[in-house]
Amino acid sequence: MQTCEEAGIIGAATGVVGSVQAEEAIKVVLGVGNPLSGRIFQHDGLLGETRITTFPRDPECPVCSSKARITDLARYEEQVSPRGHVLV
Ligand SMILES: [Zn+2]
Repeated sequence: MQTCEEAGIIGAATGVVGSVQAEEAIKVVLGVGNPLSGRIFQHDGLLGETRITTFPRDPECPVCSSKARITDLARYEEQVSPRGHVLV
């Protein structure tokens, strides 16, 4: 499967996903509604479909598990490589 960087992306799709992300942030900040925590929102503009998939929490997650190694987001760039690999 090609990445968005390789295959390109329809600009409007970024607007759809960006709007959903903004809505999620507002819900979390205001403490209202049912945030997408533990779920992934997927949008396929070519098919005109959206889908929400649930997934279990990773007990080894370096950010949000009880074993978190990344606890200071101000130092995120020092702790995570540009490709998302945890360095600490
Ligand atoms: Zn996590």
